[in-house]
Amino acid sequence: MNRYQSIRPEQRYTVRQFDQEFPTDDACLEYVKEKRFPGGMALCVNCRIERRHYRVTGRPSYACHACGNHIYPLAGTIFHKSTRPLRTWFFVIRLMASTRVGISAKQIQRETGVTYKTAWRMMKQVRKLMGDKIYLKGPVEMDEAEFGGSDSNKPKHLRGKAKATVFGIVERKGKVVARVVPDATKESILPVVGEVLPPRTTIYSDQGGTVGLVRWMGQSHRLSTMNHSKGYVDGLAHTNTIDGFWSLVKRGIKGVYYQVGATYLQSYLNEYAFRYNRRKVMRPMFALLAERTPQQICPSAREERLSALPE
Ligand SMILES: [Zn+2]
Repeated sequence: MNRYQSIRPEQRYTVRQFDQEFPTDDACLEYVKEKRFPGGMALCVNCRIERRHYRVTGRPSYACHACGNHIYPLAGTIFHKSTRPLRTWFFVIRLMASTRVGISAKQIQRETGVTYKTAWRMMKQVRKLMGDKIYLKGPVEMDEAEFGGSDSNKPKHLRGKAKATVFGIVERKGKVVARVVPDATKESILPVVGEVLPPRTTIYSDQGGTVGLVRWMGQSHRLSTMNHSKGYVDGLAHTNTIDGFWSLVKRGIKGVYYQVGATYLQSYLNEYAFRYNRRKVMRPMFALLAERTPQQICPSAREERLSALPE
């Protein structure tokens, strides 16, 4: 078999594996609890020390073995306050992790039986787990792209709306960083460059706005440009890698999401970058995403949690 067509055993995660590992809502809750409070050991606010906690029947909580005070492993996570079964959430995570090009809320609706609105919200929550803080090493390719498409393809109410500018930096055979920026000026782009690249990095770029930027940066970055109209300047000076990433994202957004509001574009970029940046990790994408579920994404959860959870 062509090695590019086969999926490495280490990266596979089949429905059968999912069913075995997460057969019930309880199994999913146990997973989050173990990631967040290994062995059920957690600080009990009553006892004021670390205590072992045991599962409370019929509630998504665990109780301190000494005083009975409850802890809620789902509080503050993406599952916070959700009335959907936890296993449905894990199933959505599996679906979102199993594709390179993205999956639509419509498809999630069909596969899980939740409403379209719920499917959309669940995906939005899962995307919150996909943000990354990434630093790149040179040589890199740099390019900007316009998202929003031509007016002729849009429904009336969306016509004439400003397109979103997206700026990307990618290592060849490595990782990508993609950001929504106000425009392609150096003032907008430079902070991103400074954040993710070390000084004196070799940068390959085309004749777009980034050329002016890199010249302006002077000695700190070396630049090789290519001119699309004149063909390649030299063999290395191409932007095929970043172009490939843009086309992956654009194909995905066109084919799967149809339209992405500027508000959510960054979270979609995060989703694509998350998968792209892990394409060579020899673990299933699902595991890489699932292990992020204990993350606290609602800071106010602590105050809300007692009133929010069912009695
Ligand atoms: Zn206690």
